[in-house]
Formats: sequence, structure tokens, C-alpha cells
Amino acid sequence: MLYDVVIAGGGAAGLSAALYAGRARLKALVIEKFNITGSQIIYTNEVDNYLGIPSVSGFELVNKFKEHATDEAEFTEGEVTSITKEDGIFTLELEDGSKINSKTIIIATGAVHNKLGVKGEEEFTGRGVSYCATCDGAFYKGKDVAVAGGGDTALSEALYLSNICRKVYLIHRRNELRGSKAYQDKIAAKENIEFTGNVVIDEIRGDGKVSSLFYHNKEDNIKTKLDVDGVFIAIGMKPDTDIAKGLADMDNYGYIIAGEDGKTTTEGLFVAGDIRQKNLRQLITAVSDGANCVASVEEYLNTIK
Ligand code: NAP
Repeated sequence: MLYDVVIAGGGAAGLSAALYAGRARLKALVIEKFNITGSQIIYTNEVDNYLGIPSVSGFELVNKFKEHATDEAEFTEGEVTSITKEDGIFTLELEDGSKINSKTIIIATGAVHNKLGVKGEEEFTGRGVSYCATCDGAFYKGKDVAVAGGGDTALSEALYLSNICRKVYLIHRRNELRGSKAYQDKIAAKENIEFTGNVVIDEIRGDGKVSSLFYHNKEDNIKTKLDVDGVFIAIGMKPDTDIAKGLADMDNYGYIIAGEDGKTTTEGLFVAGDIRQKNLRQLITAVSDGANCVASVEEYLNTIK
């Protein structure tokens, strides 16, 4: 069996690509690592910034995506372990040793937020623990929240939240912030942002939803309890791009360098969603990437006919 396009990843970008591939009458296969449970968006309690749908849970929305895309492509569960290209045909190998051939590939394997790995983080994800202020900040209007991290993401999340929340505690493991000076100046000018450095977060507690955060000072070991309604964790992301190594150029953070058309350095290999180097990683930009990639796939298929 030779597919026109194989889509690795069944999150928002992959499902959008599947829908557009079906509409383009392409023979398409989606390979999902964990079915929809692998999609980042299911961790978002409520999505309120997806155009046309004012309020929906991430789980419900991605289920709708799946339902909409289901008849447009074949779906299989598995983990792609390698991709090779020979005589213009790609071969994907799965972890069970099986092989799939395709004329083109769209990699949409996403990026995962780094986890603190502390008690309560997993339990309260979607119920006070968030990895995206743009997605969830509006739920904390007038409330007190903490942001963990010291890079640009943490600083921009803290600034964003300071316009919504009563108080924002910026908690970092070192005394120096890694984020840009420009962000640091803005942070310093905000009366409702309080920076605490040189501390380690130990635990997030709550009863059904987050109510407090515990940390200790690295020097004197003094333990502190902060009463907060939300904890935003912004300690970097890891793109799932291992299978593209050697096939696509990546930036220093491991994101694949490609424009909106998804084209990589290997002809016929495209990337969509959070693994692509871009400014805004959101549901709506992932969906857009999936559609754009299929347009590029069609253009490429026409050149090899
Ligand atoms: P980052 O620059 O890698 O910063 C991650 C932060 O999290 C660091 O402060 C790090 O501490 C901390 N951290 C990492 N692991 C931790 C752990 N286990 N426990 C506690 N803290 C931990 O990541 P990022 O902030 O997501 O930024 C990624 C890239 O995107 C950067 O190039 C950034 O400039 C860019 N970005 C740009 C903008 C913008 O310009 N508007 C906005 C967002 C992001 P240490 O400092 O101690 O290492």
C-alpha cells in the first residue's frame, strides 16, 4: 500500500491535515501515538479562544475534531520510530517493526510542556494547574496566581496574567531571571507582580482545585505556603521531533524550521503544529498549519506525477 500522505500525530494539527487531505481526495493515513489522549489540548479545562465556539472543554473540542476528520482518512495507533526516503518514496517504521510507505509525510507530533514533577501537579492539571496563560488566564480574573519559571515565557505569562489577576507571584529557582531585560523592566514596573527567586517548588495542594503552593528557599530551607487559585508552569517545552532528525533543519530548541507552508529541507516532508518554529502555539494556529500543509502536499504531488 502506498499512501499519498501519512500524518504522524493526531492532535489539532494532524486532525486538521486529515480533514483537508480527505477533502482533497488524497489517500491519507493518520498515525496516533495515544489516540486523542496524546493531544495537548485535552489538558485545558475550558477553551474560550477558538473562533466561533465561545466555551468548550479541550477534551470535547478535540473529540469534535476527531469526529469531523474520522471519515476523511484512515487512522492507526502506533509510534513512528524512523523515517527514510528512497527513490522518492518515504518509509515510516513503527515501534512494532511494521513499515508504511507514502509519497509525502506531515509530521504533527507536537511539543510537550516541561513538568515540574512535584506532588499535585498532575492531579490538578486543568483544575488550577495550567501551562498556558493565554488559554486559561481569563478564568483567574481578580484571583491570585503563581507563575513558575524565569525565562521569556514565564515573564510574558506573568505580565499577561497581571492584567487579569489581583496578584501574580513569579517563582523562580534562581535569583537571576533568564528572560529578556525588556520583560524584566516591565515586570519590575508592575505593582501586582511579586518575584521570589532562589526557591524550589515542593507541592501544589487543593481540594478539587488548586488552593495553595508550597516552596522552600534553597539557602536557608525556610518553607513557605502561598494561597493561590492557579499555578502557571512555564519552564520550557520539548518538541517531539526525534523522527525528523537528519531530514529537517531545527533551531537551537529543537523546533523544526519551516514557514507557514510547512515545507522542510526534505522535499515531500512537511511539518504542522507546535513542532514548527513559530511565535504563537495555539489551537487555532495548529489547525491552520494542518490545512496549509495539505495545500503544500497537493502542490508537491502535482510535481511528481
Ligand atoms: P527557557 O528560556 O528555556 O526558560 C525556562 C525557564 O524555566 C528557565 O528560567 C529555567 O530556569 C526554568 N526551569 C527549567 N526547568 C525547570 C525546573 N525543572 N524547575 C524549575 N524551573 C525550571 O524557556 P521559555 O521561557 O519557554 O523560552 C523558550 C524560547 O522561547 C526562548 O528562546 C525564549 O526567548 C523564547 N520566547 C520568546 C518570547 C518573546 O520574545 N516574546 C516569549 C516566550 C518565549 P533557569 O533559568 O535556572 O535555567
